[in-house]
Amino acid sequence: MTNLNLAASHDAFARAKQLMPGGVNSPARAFGAVGGEPVFIASAKGAQLFDIDGNAYLDYVGSWGPMILGHAYPPVVDAVRSAAVGGTSFGAPTVGENELASLIIECVPSVERVRLVNSGTEATMSALRLARGFTGRPLVVKFAGNYHGHVDSLLVAAGSAAATLGAPNSPGVTPRAAADTLVLPYNDPAALVAVFAEHGPQIAAVIFEPVCGNMGVVVPTKEFRDALATQTKQHGALLICDEVMTGFRLSLGGAQQLLGITPDLTTLGKIVGGGLPVGAYGGRSDVMAHVLPEGKVFQAGTLSGNPLATAAGATTLRTLRDEPPYARLDALGEQLQTGLDQAATAVGLPHHVARVGSMVTLFFVDEEVTSWDVAARCDTALFAKYFWAMLRRGVYLPCSQYEALFISAAHTESDIQRTIDAARESLAEVAG
Ligand code: PLP
Repeated sequence: MTNLNLAASHDAFARAKQLMPGGVNSPARAFGAVGGEPVFIASAKGAQLFDIDGNAYLDYVGSWGPMILGHAYPPVVDAVRSAAVGGTSFGAPTVGENELASLIIECVPSVERVRLVNSGTEATMSALRLARGFTGRPLVVKFAGNYHGHVDSLLVAAGSAAATLGAPNSPGVTPRAAADTLVLPYNDPAALVAVFAEHGPQIAAVIFEPVCGNMGVVVPTKEFRDALATQTKQHGALLICDEVMTGFRLSLGGAQQLLGITPDLTTLGKIVGGGLPVGAYGGRSDVMAHVLPEGKVFQAGTLSGNPLATAAGATTLRTLRDEPPYARLDALGEQLQTGLDQAATAVGLPHHVARVGSMVTLFFVDEEVTSWDVAARCDTALFAKYFWAMLRRGVYLPCSQYEALFISAAHTESDIQRTIDAARESLAEVAG
């Protein structure tokens, strides 16, 4: 096993901590859930990351999802470069916005009209405001372990970073801001029926991850999906499918296309910007008609739909549409799932490998994970050891048990085999 030289990363992190809280601009990057210090990245190409000490890693984070085509994908780089030459932001309409909007509408089955924003958080925040404005109702239902960005009212039982830090309710989120959010267990149709029976006329929307990635990969059951559809319809609430992570990842039309879900509104982020800051929300035309200036629900953005973001996003979506990588990503995902399962079985570690397409999680728990209650039983200390054992072998995993690992179109079968070999060694090391 190689020992990494991380001296330059260590120095950079010491400086960063003086400059930024925790030394980072987003908490998961600080490696808090696995202990130790983060690696500082210098550059990336295809499926590889290169740190500032000169180490190379096979990357399964992909900037937490966006880089489905791999890093520095030449057509995206060219599109951004040529857009930049023409000016980076005008605060006025451009045909680039038409292009990205029409691609989203073409690809995502339930989206009839769309509004571009700058992040997934903005997308979910705006979709909730729209749902409340459209229905005139105050309450929103979310599920424990689902993360929808750092919107105050959604930062309740919010999975991934918040869950691992043991602080699902952030200081600064007032009880009043959280009071209009009802939290239910994921995959529990009876709880959904009960909440609608009690609060139905007050519920504006149900927001959910259609395949959850933020407590690790968790798949919604058919019964749960059916209850979401029938309860919202029956009670006049909107169904908001948060596809910030799954959109353009699990299929061109996202999880909703894969699983046959028809939401009223969809939120998008990550891949939709091709690695630049973009989010989007869209859906039923009659609902979207309530957004300002056509309707009265306020939502705006100085840099929304800027030329760099729309160029990167449109080039990415066009590539995914014209050369769909999904069958290949699924095959690579299956290869990895089988390999990890065999590796963990060989050393007798309790585990479950969950996967949908190119999203994979090796859970250190002895049963299928269906909800946050099960996920919370995972051996996170064991995961931390496994994470570092893999990093030392040149494999860069998401730094928490409660995340999905992402495969990109730049990964090859031999990359996956190398990863399985590293996992076999790492798991033997941590089990022993
Ligand atoms: N919704 C989901 C399902 C996400 O996974 C995330 C981020 O991971 C968000 C919303 C928030 O997106 P962003 O980080 O772009 O604000």
